[in-house]
Amino acid sequence: MKIGMTTTIPVEAVLAAGHEPVDLNNIFIASPDAASMVAQAEMDGYPRTACGWIKGIYAATLRSGIEAVIAVTQGDCAQTHAMIETLSETGVRIIPFAYPYDRDEELLRLQIERLCTHLGVTWAQAEEQRERLRPIRAKVAEIDRLTWRDGLVNGRENHYHQVCCSDFNGNPERFEAELDDFLAMARQRTARRGVVRIGVAGVPTIYSDLYEFVEGLGASVVLNEIQRQFTMADCLDCDLLEQYRRYTYPYQLAGRLDDIQRQIDLRGIDGLIHYTQAFCFRQIQDLLLKRHLKLPVLTIEGEAPARLDARTRLRLEAFVETLVARKRH
Ligand code: SF4
Repeated sequence: MKIGMTTTIPVEAVLAAGHEPVDLNNIFIASPDAASMVAQAEMDGYPRTACGWIKGIYAATLRSGIEAVIAVTQGDCAQTHAMIETLSETGVRIIPFAYPYDRDEELLRLQIERLCTHLGVTWAQAEEQRERLRPIRAKVAEIDRLTWRDGLVNGRENHYHQVCCSDFNGNPERFEAELDDFLAMARQRTARRGVVRIGVAGVPTIYSDLYEFVEGLGASVVLNEIQRQFTMADCLDCDLLEQYRRYTYPYQLAGRLDDIQRQIDLRGIDGLIHYTQAFCFRQIQDLLLKRHLKLPVLTIEGEAPARLDARTRLRLEAFVETLVARKRH
């Protein structure tokens, strides 16, 4: 059975149950019909001021005929609550999962146990799946290193392989074979070093050409913050509970800030693009990012699936030019 997910959850439990995990975000954004999915949600009554991702997830669920969705009801997005209520009306079974705001160990343990019970598996079976996924996560971490350390992988490729670690494209072994082919090919390349090194923070962008545009200006994108978190590469040797406690995205911003600053220092990043989504509460966190991170930050906003608009292109050009000038002085 295909099980939809509104964001990253302990996918190990889904795999232990023999189901196929489907990250609904990836189905939405990878579709050539992504814009029409947003329109479909609006036709069904979603307000224009609802988040584009939420509308896309709603329509992607209906179009793919998915019968059950694991919905993150704490730690991701308040709009998910209303969205799953509209899905529930259509007969989709909703399995809730909540990340405790303060990373509380016992509360998180209970949530994972509850998820396992919903899916009819034991904690030990989910742990076995964590072992199965570990070498795959390690290969994606290697792709990340080939990006920032070796200049052999571009920002788009880095984004794609990391974002796939939410659901492993529904089939971990097939995804691993794809990784092996990609790694073999990337290692044959000649390194490309951009004039400046850029990190991208925030939720994955809804723009279709952000990476190509920024790297076309002579920069290299060497960090995708949230996507890197999906890989759980910082805790390949942790147990299941610790793995999902160290994952920064669903908890307080402070954990994300520490992680971003560490990666900025490690990767020698010159400037950060903070991607924000129109009508998303996370836009408020932008002020804290700018207050606490020690480097230039450009905030951009996207709304619907599309190419970058002219104003955002101009702002990106000016940002990269400023970073280049700064570096040369
Ligand atoms: S971008 Fe923000 S509002 Fe949209 S789904 Fe993600 S967390 Fe929710």
